[in-house]
Amino acid sequence: MRHPTSVVLATPAHSGLGGPLTYTSESPLASGTLVRVPLGRRETLGIVWPAVDEPRDVDLKPIRSVLDGIAPLPDLWLQLVTFSANYYQRSIGEIALAALPPQLRDLDATQVARRLKRAAPAASGSLASRTVRPTQAQEDVLASFAADDKPALLFGVTGSGKTEVYLRAAEAMLAQQPTAQALVLVPEINLTPQLQSRFVERFGEGAVVAMHSGMTPAQRLRHWLAAHTGIARIVLGTRMAVFASVPNLKLIIVDEEHDPSYKQQEGARYSARDLAVYRGSIEHARVMLGSATPSLETWQAAQRGKYRRLELPSRIGEGALPAVRLVDMNLQPKKTVLASTLVDAIRLRASRGEQSLVFLNRRGYAPVLACNACDWKSECPNCSAYRVFHKIDRTLRCHHCGYAERVPRACPVCGNVDIAPLGRGTEQLEEHLAELLGDVRIARMDADSTRAKGSLEAQLARMHAGEVDVLVGTQMVTKGHDFRRITLVAAINADAALFSSDFRAPERLFSLLMQAAGRAGRDAQHSRASEMWVQTWHPQHPLFAALARHDYAAFAAQQLKEREQAGMPPFGFQALVRAEARTQEAAQSFLRAAAKAVQGDTSQVTLYSPVPMGIQRVANIERAQMLVECGSRRALQNFLSAWRPTLHQLRGKDVIRWAIDVDPLAI
Ligand code: ADP
Ligand code: ZN
Ligand code: ZN
Repeated sequence: MRHPTSVVLATPAHSGLGGPLTYTSESPLASGTLVRVPLGRRETLGIVWPAVDEPRDVDLKPIRSVLDGIAPLPDLWLQLVTFSANYYQRSIGEIALAALPPQLRDLDATQVARRLKRAAPAASGSLASRTVRPTQAQEDVLASFAADDKPALLFGVTGSGKTEVYLRAAEAMLAQQPTAQALVLVPEINLTPQLQSRFVERFGEGAVVAMHSGMTPAQRLRHWLAAHTGIARIVLGTRMAVFASVPNLKLIIVDEEHDPSYKQQEGARYSARDLAVYRGSIEHARVMLGSATPSLETWQAAQRGKYRRLELPSRIGEGALPAVRLVDMNLQPKKTVLASTLVDAIRLRASRGEQSLVFLNRRGYAPVLACNACDWKSECPNCSAYRVFHKIDRTLRCHHCGYAERVPRACPVCGNVDIAPLGRGTEQLEEHLAELLGDVRIARMDADSTRAKGSLEAQLARMHAGEVDVLVGTQMVTKGHDFRRITLVAAINADAALFSSDFRAPERLFSLLMQAAGRAGRDAQHSRASEMWVQTWHPQHPLFAALARHDYAAFAAQQLKEREQAGMPPFGFQALVRAEARTQEAAQSFLRAAAKAVQGDTSQVTLYSPVPMGIQRVANIERAQMLVECGSRRALQNFLSAWRPTLHQLRGKDVIRWAIDVDPLAI
């Protein structure tokens, strides 16, 4: 007997092969079973999927083999994938197969069986003796968390001991159900080792596995198997880990839930934070979202009682949050880079053996190089952007397409040798500080200085060891790190975001500055004297007033009022359709045609005209986007699902690619 069997494969979203394909198998296979099937001339990995329709194809091919050493993926996992594909307008196969460790694609049943043996538990370490006692505030939060099934927002200022709450929540869950598993999400790979070691310390080596893109294929497979077989108690990873197979999931923690890196920015543009909440609801797993500066979506959900708000209002050990000092740049001498009062403050800290952190969100030496005799600027020939001047290796580098060249000796247009940098980046700031501060030890941390493997770890270690007095960097330095000796943090040029056309820019700036401030005074001994400096041309701006009081709630209330008046998220819902083509006209006319071809009831939906994207051309490809708004999440979903086939059909050959971004973060 041959049984028709639906199988999903890794098919690109727009290949037309969106749904499951039908094969035959000799015996009925459970949904979620991993199989190898022929596809054209290749053989590929697939997942048996619940059948949607009766198979039409009469000439069905047989499944080649079944990876029967691996238990089928749980039904709830299939449900998570199906939901994600529908919600983010991608194919099920794309999301499902991307969620599996890549090495699984290349292994046959015998090889898998061998790997499974290796995933067996390393002698599960006995629970380490605990040295930390929760504070009263931590106890209260844990008790409230245990008393309610709703997703919880753990709103705790920086340094308030959120990690200890995560550890205790996991511990309580495991004490109740020894086979239970927890999923812990962190925004950045850089932050996983730190948190991982705390979980390992508490739960033992064999109980904790990591999942992120920095691991080798063999590690990823091993950790995935440990989670899937239930051996791993704690699965800790970046956004991709939200799709881990965790059959006995009882707790999901999302640390720094506001962080934009939870949203995937290519392919299937899912939000791991939002999917974590969905996953918690279908799996009856408890969800805890932690942040000192929650996303306004989450804050609003807590305000209206959808989430339960838990608070840690003060720092551990009575440490104070740093005093905020605004430097009015209007009162500084012309062309001031760093106010002299700030430089003095940094010098004083260094002389006391304390550290300072200075950040500027722009890497390289200068964002533009320009000729002083003619109009030449260091434009990228392939992009509508300037190439950045990197003095260290004397290159002009495009941060969008990667195009790099040696800095010309003279202006390529008029031959004048007087070409000079405009504006400044972290390299120049480092140089400038070195000139001003003499023998103070300065280090720089940004995407350039941390590119080589291990260099980030080395830099962090030097910082922790006190071998650096001043750390200069991009926002990379502001996230999460528990540096003990920092007593001064300075934001050099924070203003750009105040007047951005992106309605989320103030939210991002506020959270960045609060997080940055959170790096200072983490050692209660020093916290009384710690300071957060902000250089600004707009010291009267209400955002800074809220910052000075560390008043997230006031800032959120003001922003939410504006958003509500404008029908913006979280009061309205958005999607972007993006198109890329050789010409801007081709990209826009595709979007216009798609808007015209909309059918059915669209009374709830607003379609805006297509516009060029912020950086209109990248690597010689023109990019356009069209915004879709709707007052109801469900109506937007229905609209997009009905519209997607039209977009697919209308795409002419001059359109290189198009995609829908649901709940976009940057507009
Ligand atoms: P957050 O994640 O809220 O910024 P952390 O979890 O990093 O804060 O905690 C800040 C510091 O306080 C850490 O050094 C941590 O070890 C310490 N800490 C947390 N809880 C306790 C506690 N109950 N007793 C003593 N120290 C604690
Ligand atoms: Zn010139
Ligand atoms: Zn470029």
